[in-house]
Amino acid sequence: MFLTITTTGTTEHPATDLGFLLHKHPGKAQAFATSHGTAHVLYPEATDERCTAALLLEVDPVALVRRGQGKGRGGTPDAALGQYVNDRPYAASSLLAVALSSVFRSALKGQCAARPELPERALPLRIEVPVLPARGGPELVQRLFGPLGWASVEAVPVRLDAEFPEWGDSRYVRLVLEGELKLADALRQLYVLLPVLDDAKHYWVAPDEVDKLLRAGDGWLAGHPEHQLITARYLSRRRGLTRDAMERLELVRLAEADGSEVEEIDNAVDESQDTEERPVPLAVQRRDAILAALRAAGAQRVLDLGCGQGQLVQELLKDVAFTEITGVDVSMRALTVAARRLRLDRMGERQAARVTLFQGSLAYTDKRLAGYDAAVLSEVIEHLDLPRLPALEYAVFGSARPRTVLVTTPNVEYNVRWESLPAGHVRHGDHRFEWTRDEFRAWAGETAGRYGYEAAFLPVGPDDPEVGPPTQMAVFTLVNDSESANESPKEGKAA
Ligand code: SAH
Repeated sequence: MFLTITTTGTTEHPATDLGFLLHKHPGKAQAFATSHGTAHVLYPEATDERCTAALLLEVDPVALVRRGQGKGRGGTPDAALGQYVNDRPYAASSLLAVALSSVFRSALKGQCAARPELPERALPLRIEVPVLPARGGPELVQRLFGPLGWASVEAVPVRLDAEFPEWGDSRYVRLVLEGELKLADALRQLYVLLPVLDDAKHYWVAPDEVDKLLRAGDGWLAGHPEHQLITARYLSRRRGLTRDAMERLELVRLAEADGSEVEEIDNAVDESQDTEERPVPLAVQRRDAILAALRAAGAQRVLDLGCGQGQLVQELLKDVAFTEITGVDVSMRALTVAARRLRLDRMGERQAARVTLFQGSLAYTDKRLAGYDAAVLSEVIEHLDLPRLPALEYAVFGSARPRTVLVTTPNVEYNVRWESLPAGHVRHGDHRFEWTRDEFRAWAGETAGRYGYEAAFLPVGPDDPEVGPPTQMAVFTLVNDSESANESPKEGKAA
């Protein structure tokens, strides 16, 4: 079974750049051992104008059978013979998809250490899979690849026997995709859609397949008109997994539709290290730090102000020490996603009694915010225009007045350490400002003083000796309850 990837180029952008992208030198033929045979990568042509890489998987059918995984769907009526005579060695299937992902691992992730700018470029691509099993035929191939940005999708049925056309077509097609796409996008599509078209997997589909699907489907699957069929087939129609994946895709769609996109750069998992131990995402470290500070303060009734999609609320619910949890956000979209994430509609009565979500703006005082032990503002203040900030200060510290207030915000000094962040950029398009450690301390100190609080500061994430931690957190504790709760904000009373 094999596939070829061809690109064309110029002197300025030679086609042989493909070798950098695939991390495989065009001058060499290489072989890699995989669990089901040997994968070969070779370049039938490699000039500045045109370069083709071929991935050829030599499957060991006997090894497949020994592993008890060689039973293709349908096949010959003679089961015993079927173990040895089947299409697995020849047809592009999940075996090829797995080989693709292990041999071209970095390319799939869009990583190219030698030429970091290359993966971002859309290339003129031609991908050919000569024998692709397609349950659903050429028509389904069109429906699957059609919406994915290819200029042309060609799926020609392969005759059962070239000499006897009257025998008709086999269930295989010859697939040719042509268009300008990023190589990583093309490879991730194939990784998912080859086994989907084959509609069979050579291995047991475990729950982590949902993660793999969502990772490979990032950017194209959620909005694909056939996402349901793709998801069900990819997960071998395992119902629980399919439902789980469909729900997560729904969240992705809602987040994509939401202007106030909440996935921030520092929430992303850094997958650059191929080690077993993934670094803990900053968003998780932030939630852990918040939970620890809330526990230290002995808080039971907690407000999550600007709760976004409800990740913190979800964590708070897991600890019965938090008896009442209220999430507030100005974005109805975000609240809808949060409600789904928490499965509010399916929650038992006692859990449901602990949690409330409502829409509100922190730029206005709100009676519903009174009477809580603690309020959290996690990555929220930087979303307000600076002139509106005093109104938020008043609404939270002056009017709601919980004993403890936790505020986290990016430390702009750390931005030079984010490799993916161009110099001088903020971490998220909606950030109105990002502060240095000094600026944050000055703001927190002044606000605490004005409303009768004391402020302490904690780093979140690795505390860099030069630039400090990626996230800074202030813990405000109410010290002077008699301090005028009615003092008006600097720029006049909000609302
Ligand atoms: N607290 C979450 C979300 C941070 S994103 C987290 O730590 O991941 C910032 C959130 O603040 C968004 O959901 C946005 O809708 C909300 N927000 C921005 N301005 C707001 C305002 N004036 N009132 C209430 N929520 C606001």
